[in-house]
Amino acid sequence: MRRDLGIDLGTANTLVYVRGKGIVINEPSVVAINADTGEVLKVGMEAKMMLGKTPASIIALRPLRDGVIADYDVALSMLKYFIGKTKPAMSFLKPRVVIGVPIGITDVERRAILEAGLEAGASRVFLIEEPMASAIGIDLDVEEPNGNMIVDIGGGTTEVAVISLGSIVVWDSIRIAGDEMDEAIVQYVRETYRIAIGERTGEKIKIDIGNVFQNQEYDALETVVTGIDLSTGLPRRTILKGAEIREALMIPIAAIIDSIKSTLERTPPELATDIVERGIVATGGGSLLRGIDKLIERETGIKVVRAEDPMSCVAKGAGKVLDKVEILKKLQQVD
Ligand code: ADP
Ligand code: MG
Repeated sequence: MRRDLGIDLGTANTLVYVRGKGIVINEPSVVAINADTGEVLKVGMEAKMMLGKTPASIIALRPLRDGVIADYDVALSMLKYFIGKTKPAMSFLKPRVVIGVPIGITDVERRAILEAGLEAGASRVFLIEEPMASAIGIDLDVEEPNGNMIVDIGGGTTEVAVISLGSIVVWDSIRIAGDEMDEAIVQYVRETYRIAIGERTGEKIKIDIGNVFQNQEYDALETVVTGIDLSTGLPRRTILKGAEIREALMIPIAAIIDSIKSTLERTPPELATDIVERGIVATGGGSLLRGIDKLIERETGIKVVRAEDPMSCVAKGAGKVLDKVEILKKLQQVD
C-alpha cells in the first residue's frame, strides 16, 4: 500500500501522520548544523537539547521560526529527514504528502513549501490551511453550512479562522504566540530580578507556572529559576510566583485576544450565531496555557472548547484529508 503522509511543519514542532497508522513522528522543528560546513548534525529532539548550549562550531536553529520557511536549505533537510524516517525498508513508491501551512503566508512562501516537499521525496504535495486541517483533525464536519471558529496558538503564529462550507470565511494571523510568551518571561526576569535566562528556560517557566486568569490556585503556583546575575556575572536563584508570570504574559496575550475579537467582528451574523452555539475551538500548544480558555470566554462572552490533544490536530487533519477527495481536489498542489 502507498504510504501517504500528513505533515504539520510547525514553527515549534513537526508531526507526521501516516495514513492508516496515525502519528509516527512528533519532534521539535530544530536542526543542528556544523557552522563551517553547513552539514546537518542532528534533527528534532536531539537538536533542541542543543539550543543555547552549542559551542561556536555548531548552530542549532529553528528553520520555521516565524511560521514560514526562514532558512530553505535547513527546512528541506529537516523535511527530508522526517519523511525518510517514515519510509518502510522495501518501499519504492513515493508518498503523497499533505502539508499544513499558516493562512497568512505569501504565494512565494507556499511555492517554497511545495517545492521542498517534492525535493524531499513526495510524488505529489498538497497544501492545507492549518485551521482547516485542525477542524478536520477533530472531526468537525467542515463541509456543512455551519460556522466554526478555530483559534490555533502555536509557537510562532496564532491563527484565528471561521470555517463554513469547506472554506475559510474570515481569518486573522499574527506572529505572536508561544515564542513571544517565552520572550516576555525572559524579559520580565531580566528587568525585575536582574537575572539573565535563556528562551528554553522562559518556556519551561511558562509551562510550569504560566497562567492568564486570576484565581487562588494559579496565584499559589511557584517555581525556582536559576540564571546569571547581571551585575556579578555569577549564577543566582530566585523564586517566581504564578501571579507575576500572569503579569508578564499580559502583552502577548492581549494581542491574541484582540485577534480573536477582530475576527469575530468581521464574521457574518449567521455564522457568528453558530459560533456562539458551538463555542470557539482552541488548539495548538498555546491552548494548554492555564486559564486561556476562561480568559477568551470572559473577553468574548463565548464558550471555549479546548481540542483534545491540541498539538496533534493539524497533522491528524492533514492525514485524514487524503481520504476526503472533495476537499483534496480543491487544495493547491504540485507533482
Ligand atoms: P507550532 O504549530 O508552531 O509548531 P505547537 O502547536 O506545537 O506550535 O505549540 C508549541 C507552543 O506551545 C510552544 O510555544 C510551547 O511552549 C507551547 N506549549 C506547549 N505546552 C504548553 C503548556 N502546557 N502551556 C503553555 N504553552 C505550552
Ligand atoms: Mg501549529
